[in-house]
Amino acid sequence: MLEKIVRRMGHDYLHASEGHAGIELAIKHKPEIILLDILMPDMDGFAVCQRLKSNPVTRDIPIVFVSAQSDADVRVKALELGGVDYITKPYDKEEMRIRIDIIFQMIKHQEDLQAQAYYDELTGLINRRRFNEVLESEIRHANNRSVPLSIIILDIDHFKNINDTYGHLGGDIILKQVAGILQDNAYSKDLVARYGGEEFVVLMPDTNCEKAEIAGERLRKIIKSTDWRISAEDFTLTVSMGVDTLDLNGTSEGSKLIQRADAALYTAKNQGRDRLVRWDHIDISEDDFITNYEEYTQTQNLLVEMSDNLKDDVAKSLCVHIQNTLGKQSADLDDCVDQVITYTKAVCEELHVSEDFINQLILATRLYNLGKISIPEDILTKKTALTPKERQVVEQLPLISIKLLEPLGIYSREMPIIRHRSEKFDGTGFPDGIKGQKIPFGSRILAVVDSFNAMTSPRPYRDPFTLEQALSELENCSQTKYDPQVVEAFTKVARQNTAQWPLTQMAVSSS
Ligand code: GH3
Ligand code: MG
Ligand code: MG
Repeated sequence: MLEKIVRRMGHDYLHASEGHAGIELAIKHKPEIILLDILMPDMDGFAVCQRLKSNPVTRDIPIVFVSAQSDADVRVKALELGGVDYITKPYDKEEMRIRIDIIFQMIKHQEDLQAQAYYDELTGLINRRRFNEVLESEIRHANNRSVPLSIIILDIDHFKNINDTYGHLGGDIILKQVAGILQDNAYSKDLVARYGGEEFVVLMPDTNCEKAEIAGERLRKIIKSTDWRISAEDFTLTVSMGVDTLDLNGTSEGSKLIQRADAALYTAKNQGRDRLVRWDHIDISEDDFITNYEEYTQTQNLLVEMSDNLKDDVAKSLCVHIQNTLGKQSADLDDCVDQVITYTKAVCEELHVSEDFINQLILATRLYNLGKISIPEDILTKKTALTPKERQVVEQLPLISIKLLEPLGIYSREMPIIRHRSEKFDGTGFPDGIKGQKIPFGSRILAVVDSFNAMTSPRPYRDPFTLEQALSELENCSQTKYDPQVVEAFTKVARQNTAQWPLTQMAVSSS
């Protein structure tokens, strides 16, 4: 009797005589309405209802209970379990027809509401929310079948101008037309959506990046060559596009795909608009690959710290090695290194350089002397002034030091400072004869600090310079040997620190 009623209303009808069979039928055919009895041979209607409601496939299908049981508590229970209606047997045919009809109207109404939630009112295209849903399912589909999936994000260029010139309504007309062009010219398997204000997306299943680029370029040219006109005024309209393709390794998510296409669009805008840019063709900064910034930064900081400690430790070990190799000579050398470090820190403070940079200079100072281990002892300990030949040997020191350090690899930032420590500001120094700002700033600082230290230290063949003598020597050679900016800063801090610097104290008192 039910079958007759339903078929007469123009619907199809499927029938099962038991609960389990009914559930299977529902899963397989996803009917629009389920008419469900309560007393059945294997499982009762309540249990069937619960099973249908717990399965996502059948959850939303309206269930109408049709039962001989008329007790109020049974009817209440049926509705509580999610039934939309309860009809007692025996029923009147006409009433049954009307009730089923009401449920179909309800379904239709719900579909309309859903359409409103899915479609963009102005352009009639699907909206961003729906697009995101489709995107997720298309991504699953593409991954399962190992086929590519591409996306184009498109943004109208200088759309604000259209609004400003022709008003918001004029702008709306253009948006509708662009949507129409995209819809009419996209391939039938592609999905066009309005993604935001004047942004559209085209989802292209089974399309690799090359094909997407060709399709995108075609759309871009069609839009550009369209005769755009509002109130008899002609104007040109262009769009920018970003394209990306799903990686075929099943790892890419929808959000990532959109993010990349958006980055490509951004690049297209920056490159001057009216163009298409593929994500795989842009230079991406490392930031684009970092999703867990906190973890990344922590690890990065940890590595920097480890590297700094390692560099310090190795430099200190090398100092011990120099000490052991050079024997009693090295005591003077250590004093000298400590002095230079004290001066360096002071002048660096005056020059407002970073902590990191100061550490580089300290390391460079410690490592500079490494090459001394291969310089003949009689030259290093000579009590009279060096001959030109001997001087040449000593001049090799920075080159020997960096040659020794090279295999370590960890001092890449300090090596140029060491190498160029004996360059002169006017370009007449060694080993490379580079000039002015070409000389690393660290080397220019160390040149001043070292010379000052050498001048104010006693030598077997001469008295130490006084503070003023040393400073005036720096001043005299400012511009030729030294960077004037460094000399100026150093002179200032040397005068300020006379009391704390032991050698300058001595130099002052001996004057
Ligand atoms: P660009 O080339 O950088 O994309 O320039 P643009 O002027 O298009 O800049 P932007 O994308 O920032 O501006 C988009 C404008 O689109 C701003 C907004 O007022 C307008 N807009 C967004 N939605 C609508 C809409 O539904 N109708 C109309 N008429 N205008 C809209
Ligand atoms: Mg925009
Ligand atoms: Mg725009």
